[in-house]
Amino acid sequence: MSESTQIICCKCQKPLEMKRVDFDYLNQFFHTDALRCPECGMVYIPEDLVEGKMAEVETSLEDK
Ligand SMILES: [Zn+2]
Repeated sequence: MSESTQIICCKCQKPLEMKRVDFDYLNQFFHTDALRCPECGMVYIPEDLVEGKMAEVETSLEDK
């Protein structure tokens, strides 16, 4: 298999780049590596990753 798994931005037709993306969720800040379009800044994040991070944040809030 020589097929690339690169994801192309459907707007700009540019390959997405792996970049650090910052999130602000429930006043908690966290960051993760995600694919981002260098042109329009659209971020592609696998849903399970986001849900995992957000669950983490919610758990840490409940502990307080
Ligand atoms: Zn784009």
